[in-house]
Amino acid sequence: MSEQHYKYVVVGGGQAAGYAAREFVSGGVKPGELLIIGKEDYVSYERPTLSKAYCKPEGPKLPAFHATVGGGGEKQEPAWYKEKGIEYLTGTTVTSADIKNKSISTDKGQTFSYDKLMIATGSTNITLDTFGAKNAKLNGIYYLRDIADGDALNKGIADAKKKNKEVVIVGGGYIGMEVSSMLKPHGLNITLVFPEDRLMSRLFTPEIASYYEKYYEEKGIKLLKGKLASGFVDAGDGSVKAVELKDGGSLPADLVVVGAGAKPNTDLFDGQLDLLEEKPGGIKTNAQLQTSHPDVYAVGDIAAFPQTLYGGGSSRQEHVQHARNSAAFAASEMMAPGKRGEYNYLPYFYSREFDRAWQFYGVNQGEPVFFGDASSGKFGSYWIDNGKVVGAFLESGSGDENNAIKQVATVRPSAPSKDELSKAGLDFATKA
Ligand code: FAD
Ligand code: NDP
Repeated sequence: MSEQHYKYVVVGGGQAAGYAAREFVSGGVKPGELLIIGKEDYVSYERPTLSKAYCKPEGPKLPAFHATVGGGGEKQEPAWYKEKGIEYLTGTTVTSADIKNKSISTDKGQTFSYDKLMIATGSTNITLDTFGAKNAKLNGIYYLRDIADGDALNKGIADAKKKNKEVVIVGGGYIGMEVSSMLKPHGLNITLVFPEDRLMSRLFTPEIASYYEKYYEEKGIKLLKGKLASGFVDAGDGSVKAVELKDGGSLPADLVVVGAGAKPNTDLFDGQLDLLEEKPGGIKTNAQLQTSHPDVYAVGDIAAFPQTLYGGGSSRQEHVQHARNSAAFAASEMMAPGKRGEYNYLPYFYSREFDRAWQFYGVNQGEPVFFGDASSGKFGSYWIDNGKVVGAFLESGSGDENNAIKQVATVRPSAPSKDELSKAGLDFATKA
């Protein structure tokens, strides 16, 4: 097959790709200049929907959540790309990349050359066989990364409803918390098992975690802390019957969902671009999101970019706002180098579970200071580091209140005493 040439190629048609396309269009990309290649059968969609709503009874289906609706933009269905003259190859995997010669090849036997390349290959879930878990591939064990996983999980839910409705969710992070909440309305018996001493231990302080733990238990979700899933028991027909725990216990399970973290998809570029072997991993970029090759940019989950707001060390963010912002930034830089200056990103995490919704901005470094009243469901925390307030968390904030904590994390004002800060609570942010 002959080689086709595009001015711009995006590898990975996930979350970032839709936002890159939007920026290319607003920057005046001409028909026939942009090619996007993605493994999934769908053009870019808002991935967060998968763990919040996709597997609810009557969950949403595409095209309802195509990018860029989550970022307040147009719903970019396949026709949108066609209309703009953007070639979008879905169901197509890039199998090799030759960075020196500026060309890539796909599993369909196509080869494309480019002037500039955007890498947006995202992450893959860490599977439990990585840790040597026994029988980790039995039927009935699910992960959630893309729509195909969501469709498989929906079938698994229907099967579990025909059995004993016993569900075990492995991992106390984002997937664990959000999927438990998404599956509960199916009337399933859910146990959430995780190795740490509290939920979301990398972000939540003990006080914050204890609020959600109580909340989950009131919703009928059993929590098993400090327990590592070490294997699975075969029902005899290749499907899962129980989850084995490292300390010897076991949990009955008709359905298991694992959320044990993710790793960046960088294999295609091994030995060709600067990759970080150690934490945070990923493809190293400069502040313009350029990799070690000046015509190759990295965005979203795989980009290890200099965290200019916090001293310039490499940071990787596996979060949607960064995928959106970095894709738009890099697309703009690819068309008009130097136009955007440096990529500055304020870390932002959020989640929604049942009727709860929290946001966090900044870094959870230094000493946490709890504020508000957990019994009323409205509370938060600041983090003080070197005399400055560097991070802020808020449950059930209004739009204005969330903006106020974002401002605090951006400005990093001097901190009053811990007592004063706790007493001032949200007023410290809203009146600042
Ligand atoms: P992805 O969106 O993962 O896209 C990468 C794409 O590249 C995929 O479609 C993949 O199939 C494709 N690909 C990979 N390799 C190849 C190849 N060789 N050839 C072709 N295509 C390839 N973040 C939040 O901040 N808030 C949330 O509420 C939230 N919810 C989430 C819920 C779920 C279920 C998941 C999995 C993640 C969630 N995240 C959330 C994280 C957020 O979705 C990611 O940070 C974001 O999707 C990263 O965007 P990306 O474009 O870098 O990667
Ligand atoms: P997280 O890293 O958030 O959580 C993984 C959890 O699994 C940790 O608590 C981890 O513990 C635990 N774990 C690891 N191995 C085991 C085991 N054998 N038994 C029990 N628990 C175990 O990753 P997720 O899988 O939740 O999320 C995957 C990706 O999706 C991430 O990139 C995340 O950012 C993204 N995502 C983001 C959302 C959001 O921002 N709202 C929502 C959903 C997904 P330990 O830390 O000790 O290893």
